[in-house]
Amino acid sequence: MDMDSFAFKKSFGQNFIKDKKIIHNIVDRANIQKNSLVIEIGPGAGALTEELVKHADMVLAYEIDERLKTFLTEKFQDNDHVEFIFDDFLKRDLKQDIEKYAYENIYVVANLPYYITTPIITKLITEPISVLNIVVMVQKEVGDRFLAAPGMKEYNSLTVYLNYYFNIKKLFLVSRNVFVPKPNVDSMVVSLVKKENQLKVINESLFFQLVRDSFQFKRKTLKNNLKRYDLDKIEKVLRTYQLDLTVRAEQLSLEMFVAISNALA
Ligand code: SAM
Repeated sequence: MDMDSFAFKKSFGQNFIKDKKIIHNIVDRANIQKNSLVIEIGPGAGALTEELVKHADMVLAYEIDERLKTFLTEKFQDNDHVEFIFDDFLKRDLKQDIEKYAYENIYVVANLPYYITTPIITKLITEPISVLNIVVMVQKEVGDRFLAAPGMKEYNSLTVYLNYYFNIKKLFLVSRNVFVPKPNVDSMVVSLVKKENQLKVINESLFFQLVRDSFQFKRKTLKNNLKRYDLDKIEKVLRTYQLDLTVRAEQLSLEMFVAISNALA
């Protein structure tokens, strides 16, 4: 594709990678095994897709920008390891989309459109499909949030529930200079591998709501953010950690949130 004449859309988060080494590294670190289905969100001009099809039995790539349809379909016309869906990934029924494929494991590998990083990750968690390994490029600051420990300013509700599902690792940093057009942020490639021994949560929807409500006003104490909840029960759990209701959500670990939510369930 002629990158010089393509009118990149900022509103679609279009920053394409021009460095093949980075692409190789991403695919390498995804460690795609045999009989796998790889979901890619936002193939763009297909640079990452091209490498993924060499390793995956099937790549299912979602691209919102119809202007890329002719280019992508022609580029991969002789390849039976890839299918494109030209639609908004967020609007798709993933379970239905993948039901025709035979596979052992699902991987998600993508250079994400940054403006919808959180909705994409949330969708991957909440849809009834089981993803083994997610390797994605995100804005560096967002990667820092995924990896934040309690007490750090980047620690938020997303950190808590991502860590509930996944072991999260920073793989490497990527400079803004390897993209066209050059974005005004740096990037990070992270991996999210499904935990084998997830903490036991009695009621997941209660857990998610509790975590979200706890962080609703970041500067407020738990007592103020959780007025609607049974504060006596919460305080009892906090005391076992030598804490009380004046604590802020950012100081609580995943384990503490799980204990509180189980006490309320
Ligand atoms: N994978 C390519 C690369 O690495 O060079 C392009 C990555 S670019 C950061 C993000 C891509 O996601 C763009 O091609 C954009 O059009 C696409 N995109 C944006 N929003 C989308 C959505 N809601 N559903 C599917 N694709 C989307």
